[in-house]
Amino acid sequence: MSAAEIPGWAHTYSGKVRDLYRPEDGDTGVLLVVASDRVSAFDHVLEPGIPGKGELLTSLSRWWFDHLPVPNHLIEPQRLPVEVERRAMLVRSLDMFPIECVVRGYLSGSGWAEYQQSQSVCGIGLPAGLTSGDRLPVPIFTPAFKAPMGEHDENITFARMIEIVGADAASELRTLSLDIFQRASTIAESKGVILADTKFEFGRDTDGVIRLADEVLTSDSSRYWDQEAWVAGVRGQSFDKQIVRDWLSAHWDGTGTPPPLPDEIVERTSARYAELLDRFTGA
Ligand code: ATP
Ligand code: MG
Repeated sequence: MSAAEIPGWAHTYSGKVRDLYRPEDGDTGVLLVVASDRVSAFDHVLEPGIPGKGELLTSLSRWWFDHLPVPNHLIEPQRLPVEVERRAMLVRSLDMFPIECVVRGYLSGSGWAEYQQSQSVCGIGLPAGLTSGDRLPVPIFTPAFKAPMGEHDENITFARMIEIVGADAASELRTLSLDIFQRASTIAESKGVILADTKFEFGRDTDGVIRLADEVLTSDSSRYWDQEAWVAGVRGQSFDKQIVRDWLSAHWDGTGTPPPLPDEIVERTSARYAELLDRFTGA
């Protein structure tokens, strides 16, 4: 699943999930971010892709950008090439901070793993006796250093983040992340969905303004749980790609190339993504 040819646009970069393009006319301030159907887990891109995923995640990102009153990277109006219209966003090319701004409202994933070792996450001490899936007393900001392509992102302390981006940017990013998380959680709960954790990325524009970038609050960057199920005590039943992670954990020892995903897993994941979008947009 390689990057599409788009007349007028030069392909410049492919991440695990998205392909980036610049206009061929040389406008360096503009970027076209195209979400593919690729799915990644444990930092590996898997085969096959999930049909419709690029579109669903782009719709969900857009919905959230519309509902969050913070500066973002979208360029309006969105004049998009027809070839990729439904899975692309036209954005300002920002000077990105090399930080994944993770906020956790619940204990899960790498946060749960770290907690079991140290009763803390990214240097933030937590109460004793918590278990996987528990709600934290307050949401916490747990940054990760964005590793270069092919390497694992690394959880870091806030002190380390200050060394990387400076004290002013670090505290601004933390405040922004926690505010957006709080707002998004309230909106999600009104839809019967728990936002367990998420990751934001920010960059600075040419005027020095910090803008929310990348994808936002998608099921690739967030853990969403059904609220009713959580209240009933069900843990780990999520709208995100947990289905893929669980299947892979049970069928792959982590060495060599991951096995192809069975049709049934692909279909269930696709349906789950669609259901989440439906919860938010009612579309
Ligand atoms: P990596 O970034 O290491 O390639 P990834 O697999 O997360 O990992 P993708 O998410 O597929 O990559 O690609 C999107 C890329 O575009 C990310 O590197 C992200 O930081 C970058 N990006 C998102 N928004 C902007 C923006 N407005 N300006 C510049 N870069 C951006
Ligand atoms: Mg990414």
